Amino acid sequence: MDTLKDTLDILDRLVGFPTVSARSNLDLIDYVEKRLAQEGIGVLRIPDVSGKKASLLATIGRPDQAGIVLSAHTDVVPAEEPSWSSPPFTATTRGDRIHGRGTSDMKGFIASALAHVDAFKRAATATPVHLAFSYDEEVGCRGAPDLVKATAALPVRPALCIVGEPTSLRVVSAHKGKVARRIRITGRTGHSAMTHRAANAVFAAARIVASLDDMARELSRLPYDGIAFDPPYSTLHVGSLHGGTALNLVPDQAVIEFEIRSVPGADVASLLKRIDVLVDAQRQSLRRTASEADIVIEDMSAYPGLAPSATDAAVKAVADLAQVEAGQETVSFGTEAGLYSEARIPTVVCGPGDMARAHKADEWIGMDELSGANRMMQRLAQKLDRPIAEWMGAT
Ligand SMILES: [Zn+2]
Repeated sequence: MDTLKDTLDILDRLVGFPTVSARSNLDLIDYVEKRLAQEGIGVLRIPDVSGKKASLLATIGRPDQAGIVLSAHTDVVPAEEPSWSSPPFTATTRGDRIHGRGTSDMKGFIASALAHVDAFKRAATATPVHLAFSYDEEVGCRGAPDLVKATAALPVRPALCIVGEPTSLRVVSAHKGKVARRIRITGRTGHSAMTHRAANAVFAAARIVASLDDMARELSRLPYDGIAFDPPYSTLHVGSLHGGTALNLVPDQAVIEFEIRSVPGADVASLLKRIDVLVDAQRQSLRRTASEADIVIEDMSAYPGLAPSATDAAVKAVADLAQVEAGQETVSFGTEAGLYSEARIPTVVCGPGDMARAHKADEWIGMDELSGANRMMQRLAQKLDRPIAEWMGAT
């Protein structure tokens, strides 16, 4: 059986679905569901509130045994860069590379997994394989929570999860978490000669931003000494600050966007509480001249960090599948892995391709990388006739 050809055929189809996060992913989900149905495998669809997107959970093998989750997101970032040399939603082979949006992040991994469904099905007498495909990962892991909940609630909780984000098949056991928020400040406008009757939203915003900068400096003095991160501490950053329209008007609107990227174990909740307190001080200050003034904080996105909680056994088992060294590796990008880990499923990140090529024009994945992923899937298939507790412990 030529699995590389199967993988390439499937990747070709997957790239053809323009599953940008803002759009529906149902055509892709329909395609995967049909493929699995041909193998006699049923799926659970978990729709979003609009009904235009869905996650998919499928079990290959017996659901009453502890299994392994292969996790991926089906959405991709937009492909509007003018410098694409081929249509982004057409898988285009040039030499030994396949170009197209999502080839690395992360339809190559999905294609490799789907190309092995038959092998998994024939082998999975003692360890089932669960496919868990989400939506909206690229806009803040919005689809994964329901899917993770369903996965953790399977008849037997899975013993291992591989999130197939592109790591060049390195086994990553930790990454930072992220919280992104928007602060909307409403003051009161007025003529710039009459500032005493107005409430200046830009001044309030500037004080908040200055306080956030102080907090960021404070965080940089709290180095994390577990596993290596770059930088080795939590960061707080203001990405945008907008306010004001004309010099002769007191601005009544300002908007700040900030994010915190936290090392495992950082007390993000108390940081956010401190931000609430300093925002409240500015709210009260504005209200002294304008009772209608307000400041609201909106959630933009959040995902938990992946703490290096995956046992050595989990890291070793996946390193053995991927045929790489088992070390303590981290990545600088976020993934859905923290959510699985929070649901008490030992989780690592390991997939073909390279994140450095994702989120830009001419994203690609190499044939050799897909072959590497296929070898990982084949080695996995060879283990499925033994209970996972046995082969995770003794690889
Ligand atoms: Zn991704």
